[in-house]
Amino acid sequence: MHTTDALREADRLMTICNACRYCEGLCAVFPAMEMRRTFAAGDLNYLANLCHQCGACYPDCQYAPPHQFDVNIPATLARLRNESYAAYAWPRALSGLFERNGLAIALAAAASVAAFVVAFVAIHDPSVLFSPHAGDFYRLMPHEAMASLFVAVSLYVIAAFAFSLSAFWRDVSAPDGQGSGVRAGIAAFAQALRDACELRYLHGGGGGCATDTGQPSPNRRIYHHLTFYGFFFCFAATCVGTVYHYGFGWKAPYPIVSLPVVLGIIGGIGLLIGPAGLFVLSQKRDPKVTDAPRRGMDVAFIAMLFLTSLTGLLLMILRGTGAMGILLSIHLGVVLALFLTMPYGKFVHGLYRFLALAKYASERRSGTFVD
Ligand code: SF4
Ligand code: SF4
Repeated sequence: MHTTDALREADRLMTICNACRYCEGLCAVFPAMEMRRTFAAGDLNYLANLCHQCGACYPDCQYAPPHQFDVNIPATLARLRNESYAAYAWPRALSGLFERNGLAIALAAAASVAAFVVAFVAIHDPSVLFSPHAGDFYRLMPHEAMASLFVAVSLYVIAAFAFSLSAFWRDVSAPDGQGSGVRAGIAAFAQALRDACELRYLHGGGGGCATDTGQPSPNRRIYHHLTFYGFFFCFAATCVGTVYHYGFGWKAPYPIVSLPVVLGIIGGIGLLIGPAGLFVLSQKRDPKVTDAPRRGMDVAFIAMLFLTSLTGLLLMILRGTGAMGILLSIHLGVVLALFLTMPYGKFVHGLYRFLALAKYASERRSGTFVD
C-alpha cells in the first residue's frame, strides 16, 4: 500500500518494534508508535519527524544486523524524514534541491549576491567600496534598499514554509493518517515548545547520543543547543536593531555596548562553536545510523550557519576599516543565500519536528489510542 521503499521499510520496522517494545523509554517515537496498530504514510512521516536521530535504539536493538530482521531504526527514519522534506516542499519543482549538493548551491547563491552588491556599489561610486565609513553600512547600500531586499526574500520564505508545513500537518492528521481527530491545542504547542527548547528527546534515554566509541555522549545535544540559541540571539539582534531604527529613529552603527551588538556577539559565538562541533561529530558518526547519501544536506546547513556567523563577526570587528565594503557584501550574500535555501535544506527539520512534537503532546494529553 505504500508508495516508496522508505515508507515500506519504516512500516516493516515499526511493526516489529510494536511487538518488541524494548526501546519505549528512549524517546517519543516508541510511545507514539505504541498508540497505533497499523501505519499509514502520514503516521510514518510523523514518527520519522519525531525521531531526533540520537542513534540510541541501534546499539540497543537485539534485531539489528546481522540479525535477519535487519532492524535499523535511526537510518530508516532518517531516510524517510529526508524524503518527507522533499515531498512537502513548496514549490514542488524545487524539491530536488534536497537531493543535490546543497552546499555548492548555497555558496553559488552567496557569491552571486555578494558580486551583485559589489557591482552595484562599484558602478555608482567605486571609492565607497574601499573607504572606511566609521561602520556606516548604509553608505554602501541605502537602508531602504537593504530592507526591501530582505523583506522580499523573507516573504517568499514565509510563504514556502506556510505551504510546506500545512501540507505536512494535513498529511499527519488525515483520517487515513490515523492521527485522526486529534487537534493540538495551545497546551500541546506549549509543551512542544518546551520539549524543543530543551531538546528533550535528544538524550538517547539519558546517556546522550550513540557515538563511534560505544559510549553515549551529550556533546551533540550541547552543540545543537549552541547552534539553536546562537541563531535565536542573532535573530533577536536583528529584531532589536529594527525596533531601534523604526521605533526610536536610532540609526546604526550601534556601539559595542548596545543591545543589538551584544546579542549579535553572543549569538555569533554560539553559531561558530555549535556548527563547528556538529560538523566534527558528523564526520565521526557511524554512517550505518544515518541517511549517508544525504549527509551533504546536513553539511550545507551547518556550513552556511558557520559562514553567516564568521562573516558577521568579522564585519563587526573590521567595520571601521576599508575592508568593510567587501565584508558587508560577502555577509549580505551569505545571509541572503541562507534565507533563500532555508525551505529546501536542513533548516526545515526544526519546523517539522516541532509540529510532530505538538501532535505527540496532543495525543498524550487526549490519551488517544489509534487503531
Ligand atoms: S529497535 Fe529493536 S529493540 Fe528497539 S523496539 Fe525496535 S525491535 Fe525492539
Ligand atoms: S534514533 Fe533516537 S530519537 Fe530516533 S527513534 Fe531511535 S532512540 Fe528515538
